[in-house]
Amino acid sequence: MKLTFIKQIIFDADDTLWENNVYYVKATEDLLDLFAKAGLDRKQIQKEFDELELWVVRERGYGSHNFVWILESLYERYKDLIDYEAFKKIVDRFKEHPNRKPALFEGVIDTLKYLKKNYHLYVLTKGEFKEQEQKIINSGVHEIVDAYFIVPEKEDDVYREILHQHHWKAEETCMVGNSPKSDINPALRVGMYAIHIPYRDTWKLDDEPIQPADGRFFQLQKFTELKKLF
Ligand SMILES: [Mg+2]
Repeated sequence: MKLTFIKQIIFDADDTLWENNVYYVKATEDLLDLFAKAGLDRKQIQKEFDELELWVVRERGYGSHNFVWILESLYERYKDLIDYEAFKKIVDRFKEHPNRKPALFEGVIDTLKYLKKNYHLYVLTKGEFKEQEQKIINSGVHEIVDAYFIVPEKEDDVYREILHQHHWKAEETCMVGNSPKSDINPALRVGMYAIHIPYRDTWKLDDEPIQPADGRFFQLQKFTELKKLF
């Protein structure tokens, strides 16, 4: 089946076009290791981490600055027990990643160039504006897509607003992403088509079951498989 009736395709960025969550997972694991080595209970620290993460996402939003704030808050609580140099190394390594060229998944640029021949392409990503924009530009993706949208949160209203502003019909617009919660379900709820490309390690706050969609939902294993649908 080919979705030839689709006119515009919107792509999520983090963990759909390039690696992102791995850097967060690595820093979290390194921090837990460091705290456990100091004799602290790993499960307890993980619990405190999860509580801080929920709070910061709700009150301040996404982005690496907010994540670093979580790491620093945990350090402050236990600083008498933790080696500062070792802690700083973890934070410094994490902080490097948004400045680097994103590690694109296999075949992303080629596939986008192929799709561009027949469809309008967009990026829709949530997070801190400058950080997300820098990744879009450093990746080279901005040279291929028609435009990109950076929003604080990807909720139903954001999708409705984008459709409305551009006079796009929901049934001619398709969302592609790794997150059921931010990409797939809101797109399906507003009447769009949605293609899920699962990521091996989707952030737990971005995961949830995919809702029924009467034929508007597709699942692929790899980004390059989009060529089968378009
Ligand atoms: Mg994503």
